[in-house]
Amino acid sequence: MNDNYDLIRAELAAAQVTLVAVSKTKPVHMIQELYDAGQRDFGENKVQELMEKMPQLPSDIRWHLIGHLQKNKVKYIASFVHLIHSVDSLELLAEINKHGAKNNRIIPCLLQIYIAREDTKFGLDEDELFQLLHSQEFKSMKNVEIRGLMGMATMTENQEQIRSEFRKLKRMFDQIREQGLVQNANFTVLSMGMSSDYHLAIDEGSNMVRIGSLLFGSRNTDI
Ligand SMILES: *Cc1c(COP(=O)(O)O)cnc(C)c1O
Repeated sequence: MNDNYDLIRAELAAAQVTLVAVSKTKPVHMIQELYDAGQRDFGENKVQELMEKMPQLPSDIRWHLIGHLQKNKVKYIASFVHLIHSVDSLELLAEINKHGAKNNRIIPCLLQIYIAREDTKFGLDEDELFQLLHSQEFKSMKNVEIRGLMGMATMTENQEQIRSEFRKLKRMFDQIREQGLVQNANFTVLSMGMSSDYHLAIDEGSNMVRIGSLLFGSRNTDI
């Protein structure tokens, strides 16, 4: 596992891409092992699992919430989460904003965009993305900061399809930057790429990848 880590880390450092180690379903001792090797950014996809692991691990871990987030769970992570990758509605963003205010912090978020040709994945489509960004409600939020976009490509062997989905996300990302639709200088993160497609993603402009199975081994109960 650490051999893989060293290789991936070197590769990503050279490309200036941030590695989020996706530790879902994996025990805390495996997270600790990677932490000891130098990793600080870890991603979980379920609030409950994150809440169980967090107190057992070093406090300087940067926890990323990468899975679908229900509004009623925001309160559990609002005080410490480093980056929420999976904001897929204005309502959810409003809830995060509310809990940001309660915790007296600005919570960093990515908007999750639906780019795959699959029904099962969450995310905003292109119209919804721009509607959200143009809405008065969004513009008035003081306790969230949109740092960028996240997307997942279709699970397919077809490299060209994956590439074109990533390209589409990169185009939206560039458009938002060019048009200044997000009023902060930190709109810089493009989170795309997982174990099976991170090379393609980086090729297409990703600067944050979320890698699980390549680092920790495959998961039996995939979710
Ligand atoms: C599980 C998961 C990953 C990592 O998947 P691997 O194929 O194990 O690298 C990345 N992003 C999200 C949103 C996930 O749920």
